[in-house]
Amino acid sequence: MGEDKGRKLYDTVVIGAGMTGMAASLFAANKGLLTLQCGSSSGLVFSSGMLDLMAVFPISEQKRWKNPWEALESTGKSNSKHPYSKLSKVLIKQAMDDLLVFFKDLGFEYRFKINENVLLPTAQGTLKPTYLVPQNMWNGVVAYENRKPCLLIDFNGLREFSAFQVMENLGKVWSGLRCARVNFPGMEEQGEVHPEHMARTLENKENVNKLAKIIKDQLGNEQFVGLPAILGIHQSTAILDQLQNELDVLIFEIPTPTVSVSGLRIKELFCRELPDKGVTQLDNSRVIKVKRLENGNFEFCIHQNNTDKSIEARSAVLASGRFFGGGLKASRHHISETIFGVPVSQPQDRRQWHNIEFFDRKGHPVNQAGVEVDDYFRPLDSNQNPVFENLFAAGSILAYQDWIREKSGSGIAVSTAYAAVESAFSYLHG
Ligand SMILES: Cc1cc2nc3c(=O)[nH]c(=O)nc-3n(C[C@H](O)[C@H](O)[C@H](O)COP(=O)(O)OP(=O)(O)OC[C@H]3O[C@@H](n4cnc5c(N)ncnc54)[C@H](O)[C@@H]3O)c2cc1C
Repeated sequence: MGEDKGRKLYDTVVIGAGMTGMAASLFAANKGLLTLQCGSSSGLVFSSGMLDLMAVFPISEQKRWKNPWEALESTGKSNSKHPYSKLSKVLIKQAMDDLLVFFKDLGFEYRFKINENVLLPTAQGTLKPTYLVPQNMWNGVVAYENRKPCLLIDFNGLREFSAFQVMENLGKVWSGLRCARVNFPGMEEQGEVHPEHMARTLENKENVNKLAKIIKDQLGNEQFVGLPAILGIHQSTAILDQLQNELDVLIFEIPTPTVSVSGLRIKELFCRELPDKGVTQLDNSRVIKVKRLENGNFEFCIHQNNTDKSIEARSAVLASGRFFGGGLKASRHHISETIFGVPVSQPQDRRQWHNIEFFDRKGHPVNQAGVEVDDYFRPLDSNQNPVFENLFAAGSILAYQDWIREKSGSGIAVSTAYAAVESAFSYLHG
C-alpha cells in the first residue's frame, strides 16, 4: 500500500458490483486491504434477496437436498472441478457468517433453520428451496409449512405480481389461500404502479398506516397476509413491524421478478456502507483496458462518467459475472473472458453448447462454461498454470457450476469471494 508516482496504489481492485464483487469488497475491507471496486448494474437488482447455498444436485437427476451442507459435500466429492470442491465447510460458513453479521449490524436480518433448506412461496406460485431468508419473507415459510389460512394481496396497476396467480398455483398444495386486489395508497385513479416506487413511498409511516387501513378492510379471519416485496428499501423490517402491529396479523413479502425490491435493498445497503469501510467505489464504471506492469502490478483504465481513470493495484479480484454481467462474451464459435482474456473452459464445438430440448433437466453445457481456477482461485492457462499469481476469480464467472439450476447463486458468490480475498491477502502479505 502507498503512493507511486503520485497516484494511489491499491492493494486490490475488485472488478464487479454484483453479489460477488460486493462480498469481495466487504471481505477485503474487513482484512484492511486498500480496495477499489468498479462495475455497474448487476444481477443483484434482479435477485430475490434469498441466499441459496445448494439445493439441487446432481441437476441431471433433479435431486433435491433438505440439508444444504450435505448437498455441498456431495457436490464437492462428485465433481472435483466444482467451485465448492475447493472450499471447506468451515470457510463457507465463515464467509456466510461474516456477511450475515454485516447485514445484521445494519438492521437487515436473515432467518434460517439450522442445516435445512426451507420452501419459500414465489411470485410464480412455486415453492423455492433456499437456505437464508430475509426477515420480511420468513413468515411465508411458516405459513406454508403449517398451511395457515392466508390472505394474498395484490395491487391495481402492479404488473409484476399477481396474487391470483400465486393462489392458482400454490392452491394445489395449500388450501387456505384467498386473494384480494386493492389500490395502493394515493393511487385511487387507474394507472401503473412499480415496486421500487411503492417501496420508497412506504418509507413514510403515514403511507404505511394508510396501507394498513386498506388491507384491514379485506381481512377475514386470516392470521397471515402475503404481499409483493414492496415494504421499503432502507427500513423494511420497521415497516413490516408497523404493518403487523396495526393489523395484528403476521405479514410476509413475496419477491417480485424483474427489478426486485429485495435485491435493491441489498445493493443499496452495500453501496451505502462499503465506502464507510474504506472501499473506493466507482459506480457505473467499466474496466476498458488492463496492463501488467513490470513490477507485477496491474494498471487499469477504468471508464466512468465519460472520463478514463488510470488505477494501479497490486492484485485483482475478477467478479465480472457471466454473459449477462459482461464477464463472458460469446462470438459465433467461441466464448471469451472480456477483461484479461484468460482462457474459458467451454464445449469444443458450438453445437455442444445447448442440448436439443430447451427445458432439458440436465441444463445446457454452455451454462457451465467459465474460468477455471486453481485451489487459490487463480485463473489457469492452457497448461493449468496460474495466468498471474496476483489475479483471482470468484462468483458466477467460475466454470463447472450451474448456479441457477443448483440453487447455489449467493453461496458460490459469497464463499468464492471470501476465498479469493483470502488468497489475495496471502499474496500481498505472504
Ligand atoms: C433474476 C435473478 C434472480 C436471482 N435470485 C437468486 C436467489 O434467489 N438466490 C440466490 O442465492 N441468488 C440469486 N441470484 C443470483 C445472485 O445474484 C448471484 O449470486 C449472482 O448472479 C452472482 O453474480 P456475480 O456477482 O458473480 O455476477 P453479476 O451479478 O453478473 O455481476 C457482474 C458484475 O461485473 C461487472 N463487470 C462486468 N464486466 C466489467 C468490466 N469490464 N469492468 C467493470 N465491471 C464489470 C458488471 O457491471 C457487474 O457489476 C439471482 C440472480 C438473478 C439474475
